[in-house]
Amino acid sequence: MKIAIAGSGALGCGFGYMMQKGGNDVTLLDFWDEHINTIKENGLSVTVNGKEDTINISIGKPEEIKDTFDTIFIFTKSMGLRHMLEEIKHTLTEDTKVVCLLNGLGHANTISEYIPKKNIIMGTTVWTGGLDAPGKTHFMGEGPVEVQNSDENEEEGTRQVVQMMADCGLNGVYSSNVHFTTWRKACVNGTMNALCSLLDCNIKELFDVAQIDELNQGIVSEFSRVAETEGVTLDVEETINYLKGIAEKVGGHYPSMHQDLKNKRPTEIDFLNGMVAKESERRGFEAPYSKQITQLIHAKEDILGIKR
Ligand code: NAD
Repeated sequence: MKIAIAGSGALGCGFGYMMQKGGNDVTLLDFWDEHINTIKENGLSVTVNGKEDTINISIGKPEEIKDTFDTIFIFTKSMGLRHMLEEIKHTLTEDTKVVCLLNGLGHANTISEYIPKKNIIMGTTVWTGGLDAPGKTHFMGEGPVEVQNSDENEEEGTRQVVQMMADCGLNGVYSSNVHFTTWRKACVNGTMNALCSLLDCNIKELFDVAQIDELNQGIVSEFSRVAETEGVTLDVEETINYLKGIAEKVGGHYPSMHQDLKNKRPTEIDFLNGMVAKESERRGFEAPYSKQITQLIHAKEDILGIKR
């Protein structure tokens, strides 16, 4: 399969590496000069589940690309999605499938401004990655990459993408309700990411604080109410138990938003708690947790001198 990775940071490089090793023709697309030049000169170095490897892989800026692709995986941060869609417009054909595995809410609507519904594949992944230096990343996981076509009558092309991922060791799975999975993942990020970032603690420390049950209850209830307006039922108690299960498994991990702030990079808060606050306000619901968490994360970005 001819594949482009639009946004080749931690996850983009991990997915790109796995797909090229699996026999696909992969091109990485990015805007970060140092990263692009390092990969052109020295190859891409990826450590997958502790095993290091370096490969030669095609990389360039979207504007340099004259090719078209069967499938484009988008791996920008949420706030870079629209810009990336603008930049890859010229590479799209009538049949190019666009896969979005970003964290956050509202991405399907943004993508639908550029891509026909039949070609949009939304999903979630539990693989994780990090950038160690330009051209050097690590990638970890084994869990599923769940995807679903936005048009329920267009499963076939998406199933080919699922099979391709499975063949590359990425554990692709066709989901029957990716909307639910996306909302539930947003609850994970809207609680653990936001609170660990504000409290400067890891997930174990967060789940040991006396206030955690009340905080989870408040945040998840607000997410659940907005999800309901989109036809997604998120049972609050069940979701909180799901969060506790994750916290027990990942313990001492610092979520990505915590790391974004540490690295002085803007967070995805506007697409998580911020989106719930905005949608709640539009619909006349009270959402004090989501609103204040968003304000506090933005305040922290400002204190750290992070440009949004
Ligand atoms: P990332 O920050 O590593 O990369 C995103 C973009 O930022 C890339 O284009 C990258 O080149 C650029 N970038 C990164 N560091 C830069 C720097 N120092 N200077 C200039 N540009 C830089 O993002 P990611 O972690 O791959 O996440 C992509 C999406 O996937 C997000 O929505 C994230 O929430 C989601 N996600 C990430 C993980 C994870 O473990 N990383 C897991 C699940 C979902």
